[in-house]
Amino acid sequence: MDSKEKQELLDYYWGNEPVYHPTEGIPMPRRTVWKIRFLAMVLLGSYVVFTAAIVMASPPMPVISWLIGALAGGFCADLLSGLTHMYIDFGTSNRKNPIHKELFLSRVHHHELHRPAKLNYASLWFSPALSSFIVLGLIPAFLGRLLTLPVNLEMIGPFWLSLLWFSSFSQVAHAYAHGKAKHPVARKVVRSLQKMRLLIPPKVHGKHHREIDCNFSVLNGWSNPLLNKIFKKRIEAHVSSNTSPARQKADMKQNLSYPYEEIL
Ligand SMILES: [Zn+2]
Ligand SMILES: [Zn+2]
Repeated sequence: MDSKEKQELLDYYWGNEPVYHPTEGIPMPRRTVWKIRFLAMVLLGSYVVFTAAIVMASPPMPVISWLIGALAGGFCADLLSGLTHMYIDFGTSNRKNPIHKELFLSRVHHHELHRPAKLNYASLWFSPALSSFIVLGLIPAFLGRLLTLPVNLEMIGPFWLSLLWFSSFSQVAHAYAHGKAKHPVARKVVRSLQKMRLLIPPKVHGKHHREIDCNFSVLNGWSNPLLNKIFKKRIEAHVSSNTSPARQKADMKQNLSYPYEEIL
């Protein structure tokens, strides 16, 4: 890639970047902030309606079934957050398309830890919540009806809802691991949830930032032992030299700065 192509890519990747950069970049316009807040409220309403529909369709079941389903859903949501994170960290960005833009901007987080934590809650929640709602909620519901699968809601209702809700909060949990909670009461509650391992503790996620090749999950960390094994045994050998953990660690030591041409 020559320098003109690199500049064009960087212009495209940073073009509408809404996170205000300390020295460069643009703030998210107020209208966009309110638009995202409105969309997030509509989506939250859809989550509530979907949840009510599943709960009403589920037969009465003991609390233990809900508990087991909730834990299994929390584990799988964490696993999905870790697999997505692996793809983001090791996928290359060399094309002008929204996916490559997202990969590039997400990898900048390794150099600017404050980036997710600076976003407002609606922005942090909306994007993963929308993809989870479509992929984990609507599509399985639609396919289940279309194929008239013999799915017993008694077996999957609690798991399904837990997977959906936990997945929607992945970026909020990640931002909390980077100190998003500022109000003393919020900070206390978040710390307790992190201690109980319902949210990923900063120490566990911090290891990923130091070593790159481990602790990929960003939700609660329950799946990290499994994901760390999968990465070492099945994935690390296939990572491109452009995004290898060793290369990324070396990049971090260089104190790179905006617009991060080196990580393209
Ligand atoms: Zn990462
Ligand atoms: Zn992080």
